[in-house]
Amino acid sequence: MICRHWVRPIIITLTGLAFLCGCRYDGPLMVETITPSVTEGPTSVKPTTSPTATATMTPVLATPTALPSPTATTESETVIITVVYDNNAYDPRLQTAWGFGCVVERWETTILFDTGGNGAILLSNMATLGIDPVEIDIVVLSHIHGDHTGGLGDLLATGVRPTVYVPASFPASFKKQVRAITTLHEVDGSQEILPGIHTTGQMGTNPVEQALVVETSQGLVVITGCAHPGLAEMVRRAGQIGENEVYLVLGGFHLGGASRSRIAGIITAFREMGVQKVAPCHCTGDQAINMFAAEYDDDFIQNGAGKIVEITP
Ligand SMILES: [Zn+2]
Ligand SMILES: [Zn+2]
Repeated sequence: MICRHWVRPIIITLTGLAFLCGCRYDGPLMVETITPSVTEGPTSVKPTTSPTATATMTPVLATPTALPSPTATTESETVIITVVYDNNAYDPRLQTAWGFGCVVERWETTILFDTGGNGAILLSNMATLGIDPVEIDIVVLSHIHGDHTGGLGDLLATGVRPTVYVPASFPASFKKQVRAITTLHEVDGSQEILPGIHTTGQMGTNPVEQALVVETSQGLVVITGCAHPGLAEMVRRAGQIGENEVYLVLGGFHLGGASRSRIAGIITAFREMGVQKVAPCHCTGDQAINMFAAEYDDDFIQNGAGKIVEITP
């Protein structure tokens, strides 16, 4: 049985940190739908679950979830990325709220990258998508802002015990609260979490942030929470991992208030780095979304809550 004495402070702490996120709210996306070559999730599916329904609570685990065998291969495996939390709508069955979170599935490994800001919405969206919290082996938190970490308390309150990876610079109180419940790893430099799944390591300051980097059959997939340290810088760091080029960059690009010239410079840097596809959401901003869509054309992936990107060998 989980001790709510510990869960509650996490919720309060993370709610209190929500205001720190410099992401600007830009409202729902209004961009034309472009069909990417990767498999997309449903665009208009009749709801099977009430939008306000909460997730079915899973059995309480006595011990932390055992991580999958480190002998997994990566090149021949399908990788599925499902956006479970975003302020932009994609699957109309899901709730939207300011923040970001996505589930990365590869073989028998399931990773939740960021938890959104509201645990009830996170769990509701996961339930609608058929993702049971008990399936999550690992949680990776990009940065301390509440719209990326606020759902963790409610997730752990379901009784699951994923291993949690956070930047080492996270507040001591936060790390202590998580450690009281489950296994916590502090990330400093770039490291391989599982074979073929990496973190860039801590980048930037105020806030420090890490991005997730997944080796796939098509190249590297870089997932950013907010990209506060600089989008091009984070992708450049990610591109130094392994020998493959960056195939896809997905997540918050944090360009809500950026000038056209700055956005154009980042797009140029993406092209120079060989980034093949983009799937911006969360704090990217409408102007940057539209500029990326114009530049990447068929390689632009419209993104939002409920979007599913499947990368197959
Ligand atoms: Zn942020
Ligand atoms: Zn954010």
